[in-house]
Amino acid sequence: MTNLTIAKINSAQDYLDSLRGRKLKLYLMGEPVDDITTHPIILPSINAMAATYRLAEEAPELATVVSPLTGERISRFLHVCQSADDLVMQNKMQRRLGQLTGTCFQRCVGMDAINALYSVSYEIDEAYQTSYHQRFLAFLKEMHLQNCVIGGAMTDVKGDRSLAPHEQADPDLFVRITRRTAEGVYISGAKAHQTGCLNAHYMLVMPTMRLGEHDRDYAIIGAIPVDAEGITYIYGRQSCDTRSLEPGSIDVGNAQYGGQEAMVIFDNAFIPNEWIFMDGEYDFAALLVDRFTAYHRRSYVCKSGVGDVVIGAAAAVAEMNGVEKASHIKDKLVEMTHLNETVYATGIAASYQGYATKSGCFLCDSMLANTCKHHVTKMPYEISRLAQDLAGGMVATMPSEQDLNHPEIGQLIRKYLKGKASVPTEDRMRMLRLIENLTLGRNAVGYLTESLHGAGSPQAQRVQIARLMQLEYKKRLATVLAGIELPADKAAVVEELGSYFERVFKPA
Ligand code: SF4
Ligand code: FE
Repeated sequence: MTNLTIAKINSAQDYLDSLRGRKLKLYLMGEPVDDITTHPIILPSINAMAATYRLAEEAPELATVVSPLTGERISRFLHVCQSADDLVMQNKMQRRLGQLTGTCFQRCVGMDAINALYSVSYEIDEAYQTSYHQRFLAFLKEMHLQNCVIGGAMTDVKGDRSLAPHEQADPDLFVRITRRTAEGVYISGAKAHQTGCLNAHYMLVMPTMRLGEHDRDYAIIGAIPVDAEGITYIYGRQSCDTRSLEPGSIDVGNAQYGGQEAMVIFDNAFIPNEWIFMDGEYDFAALLVDRFTAYHRRSYVCKSGVGDVVIGAAAAVAEMNGVEKASHIKDKLVEMTHLNETVYATGIAASYQGYATKSGCFLCDSMLANTCKHHVTKMPYEISRLAQDLAGGMVATMPSEQDLNHPEIGQLIRKYLKGKASVPTEDRMRMLRLIENLTLGRNAVGYLTESLHGAGSPQAQRVQIARLMQLEYKKRLATVLAGIELPADKAAVVEELGSYFERVFKPA
């Protein structure tokens, strides 16, 4: 069995302590980083992850569950859903954490990966008499005992998008098995923009797409410690990230919290047999990706929590500017709220429509999950546009904190950047910087671009929606109402297709 070294993490402080002293091979802006916990650019992302532990301390009913594997209280992020209500509670926790941090708190990838893997490992075993599910349960029990963070590593760098993994000029453009031994496998390749990977303790490596029979060596699912030998991390830059290196707390916009993405490069990194949950069953790769993305696309209700912060900041700045009573301002806030709630509504509806897989684990409704994520690729952009509209041009042209604190020109800024007389100029500047942070700066990575591409770019959702949209069934509805007779064989086919709707109409 793999050596497990982490004592159970019971608090945000325990979590911060658990990240110290690890040997990671990490580069940020061309420099090696020895200790992520003291790096000013990385720290806000660690704080955001730590917020998931803090919420567990402050609201255990929202952010923890009793583990069916250990009988102890653990983070909800490590829980495999036993009911539709469990899925719904994940969404409520995600919205709350979005509200508290105003950024991506990075922990949902692992949560959605363990839920997908639970049912997929069960179904691989059923098809091939393998023992992946039992291995996975043993792994999960260890994770519950440690109450640690699992990251998911799915998105390969992909090379030439028109070619399958085995057809690439460089075989490492998708993560693959390079060597098998009696003890386990060695993997090489790279995973791009891996959310929160450095803030996790373990990564679940998974294939990124449907695989064919010549891609067997790419059909690998396994767990690996983040600090395992043979892994190099290259930290992703974020817009305005070096503001975190400047003195002060205004210009960063959100001094406490930020997201994190890095490129993860495996160079013959080892995965022991006990932690391998797929090896060569390429025909199950698509099912894994389908289930993971279904879970993860409704997890994007996290953005409705961040949206609450954007709307709050826009309303606050309007008030500071003295325009809160103008009808067009109120109307824009209503529009922002309507868009934000549409994201939440579709995501949580996907969870309410959850149903049991063969393994007993509950899976959300894929059509609604994809609809949620598709909204997320658009609505935060419109909400951001309206926030900048309400903020005014100062959101992008404001002098710096250094100018504000300057003995000579500081007083000019306090005088001329004043809004309402009762509001300190510094407060107005802080609110404007927060809007900048969310819509142009560091946290726009999470609120906008991650909303666009995370859990699959817009076209990926459209493909799923096209697959699930049941046009034959819908044509039948129209045909019957139009008084046209259905051909008998056609009627049989569309009855079967209607089963999707039967499930959806059943109470959860
Ligand atoms: Fe979670 Fe949202 Fe970040 Fe994805 S983008 S990890 S769903 S907070
Ligand atoms: Fe993401």
